[in-house]
Amino acid sequence: MTLSRKLLYVVVDGMADRPLDELGGLTPLEYADTPSMDRLAKLGLTGLMYTVERGIAPESDVAVLSILGYDPHLYHTGRGVLEAVGAGLEFKDGYLALRCNFATVGGDWELIDRRVGRSLSTEEAAELGKAINEEVKLESHPADFEFKTTIGHRAVLVIKGRGIKLSSKITNTDPAYVKVEGMGVAASKPERRVKRCEPLVDEPEAKASADLVNEFTEKSRRVLEKHPINVRREAEGKLKANVVLARDAGDRLPGLFSLEERYGVKFSCLADMPVEKGIAKLAGMEVVELPPSTGRFKEDYELRVEEALKALEGHDAVYVHLKGPDEPGHDGDARRKAAAIEAVDKLFLTPLLERVSLEEALICVTSDHATPCSLRAHSDDPVPILIAGGDVKPDSVEKFSERECAKGGLGVLERGVELMPKLISMLRGA
Ligand code: ZN
Ligand code: ZN
Repeated sequence: MTLSRKLLYVVVDGMADRPLDELGGLTPLEYADTPSMDRLAKLGLTGLMYTVERGIAPESDVAVLSILGYDPHLYHTGRGVLEAVGAGLEFKDGYLALRCNFATVGGDWELIDRRVGRSLSTEEAAELGKAINEEVKLESHPADFEFKTTIGHRAVLVIKGRGIKLSSKITNTDPAYVKVEGMGVAASKPERRVKRCEPLVDEPEAKASADLVNEFTEKSRRVLEKHPINVRREAEGKLKANVVLARDAGDRLPGLFSLEERYGVKFSCLADMPVEKGIAKLAGMEVVELPPSTGRFKEDYELRVEEALKALEGHDAVYVHLKGPDEPGHDGDARRKAAAIEAVDKLFLTPLLERVSLEEALICVTSDHATPCSLRAHSDDPVPILIAGGDVKPDSVEKFSERECAKGGLGVLERGVELMPKLISMLRGA
C-alpha cells in the first residue's frame, strides 16, 4: 500500500482547561493568541475527545498509550517500565521498574517537598544518582539495581533479582499517587509522609519487591543526606534532595503491537520526557534524540521545527509531544499557561506550517488530557482536537478552543483509542 500523504500528529501536554475568572471567563487556550491553531481549525474538522474515557483523569503515560491506539486497560503495565525503556535502561519481564522523584524529607520521613521545590538541576541529580549507584548495595534479597536520573528531579529505578522474579503488586512510597487497577492516579488528599512500600498480595515475589524498595529508600537516603551537593544546597538555604520517592511499579513489558506492522505507516517521534520516548520505542517508532530543553522557548522550538521537518522527510508520520502548558497548569498559573500555549503556536506551528504543504500533509493537533489550573491536577475533561489538510472538508468551527470544538464535525470521541485508526484511514484518503 502506498500512502499519498504524511501525518503530523502534535500533542500539547495538558493544554485543555476550564474557564477562569482571572482570564475574564476564558480558558487559557481561549485567552492565548493562537493564529495557527485557529487557521487549522478553520480549514479542518474539529471535535472533543475523552483521551481515555469518561471518568478517568489520566496520567500522561496512560493517555498517550490511548491516543496512539493502545487500549490502556489491555496494554498498561506500569509507568515505571515505560520510563525505564525511555531512559534507555535494560528491562526484561520479571525485573521491577519504578518512576522516581528526588524529594525533600525531614526527620521521621515527613515530606517537605516532593520535587525539591523544582530547583534540582539535571546535573546535580546526575551526581547524586552516581553516588547512589556506587554506594548502595541491596542485601535483603539477591538483587542488583540501576538508578538513572533523567530530567530535573525525575529518575527511574530498575531492580533486577538474581534468580528471583520481582512483582509490581506493591504500593508506592510516593504519597501523591495511588494505584487504581494498576494505573497511577493522583491521591485526593496526599499524606505528607514518605510511605513504606507494602506488598498488595500475599506472594513471595511481592514481599521481596517491597523489601527491596524499602531497603533502597533507606540506604539511598543515607547516601543523599551527607552528599556534598546537599551539604552545599543546605548552606545556600536551598531544599535538600535527600530522599527518592518511588511509584508506578511495573514488572513486564506492555507488548505493544508495532504501528508500522499494524497500519503500514512508518512513525518517527519527537518527545522530551522518558515516558513518551519509552512508549514510542515500544510502538516501533524511531525516536529522535533531542538535547534537553533549555527552557528558552525560541531556541527549543526552532530546533524542534527543524527536527520535525527532517523526520517528516524520512517517515510517513511524525508524533510530536510538546510539554509546555502542563506544568503551569499544575502550578495553577493561568497566564503562564496561556503564554506556553502561545509559544507552541507562534514558535512551533507557525514556522512549521510555512514549510509543510497542507495538500501533502494531514495535521492533527490535540492534548493528552486537561490540566485545569483550578484543580492543579489532571482531569477527565474532554480535550479539543483538530484534523486539517489533505482531503479533509472543513466544518463551521473557526477557532481552536474547548468550547468552539464542542460544535465541530468530529463530534465527541468517547474513547481516545478511536483516534489512531481514524487518522490512519484519513491518511489513506478513505
Ligand atoms: Zn500529560
Ligand atoms: Zn501533568
